[in-house]
Amino acid sequence: MVARQLRARGVRDERVLAAMAAVPREAFVPAHLRHLAYADEALPIEHGQTISQPLMVALMTELLDPGPGDRVLDIGTGSGYQAAVLAAMGCRVLGIERVAELAAAARERLVALGWGEEIEIRVGDGSIGAPEDGPWRRILVAAAAPRVPETLTAQLAEGGRLVVPVGARWEQELVLVERDGDRLRTTHHGLCVFVPLVGAGGWP
Ligand code: SAH
Repeated sequence: MVARQLRARGVRDERVLAAMAAVPREAFVPAHLRHLAYADEALPIEHGQTISQPLMVALMTELLDPGPGDRVLDIGTGSGYQAAVLAAMGCRVLGIERVAELAAAARERLVALGWGEEIEIRVGDGSIGAPEDGPWRRILVAAAAPRVPETLTAQLAEGGRLVVPVGARWEQELVLVERDGDRLRTTHHGLCVFVPLVGAGGWP
């Protein structure tokens, strides 16, 4: 997966590649799809949600550019795979997931894999962020928003980075927002397809 799907397609950050080589993706997909755990595609998980394609996880993590020790807000934690990749890079992660059953399953598998200390998972509407625990140096959203949620950019620390898919219901662009004092720099990084971010800062 790392050689053929990630490195061969231009993922350069060795820390991202090492983390994705270290995290056992088969632990995050439903049992009947385990043979596809390292396939080049997104896979369905419970409750009509998805675990993102490995390449998309790599590109988003590369754009996020987290450093060891960074606190990261992971919105739309789903299976917990993205959170595990961040923990494997030395980050401390707060995950927010709106579906309680997904959050519980993610929590259970992350504890079993030994990331219980590094990753906390809460149930709730992540589209409003976690202001009481902010400001955040890094925020990653794994669900599609109709526009960049202002509640999230407001929680970005100086030098902070927010990665979020933004656009229409069936197709979005990967957007990076960087805070430089009072200024926000927004750049676009290609097309993607995510399940909707449902909540106050997302879709109704
Ligand atoms: N990062 C996940 C991808 C999960 S797909 C992984 O690695 O497996 C996106 C997830 O976002 C879904 O589980 C969905 O339930 C969740 N979601 C959608 N809107 C949300 C919101 N407002 N707050 C928190 N989670 C949300």
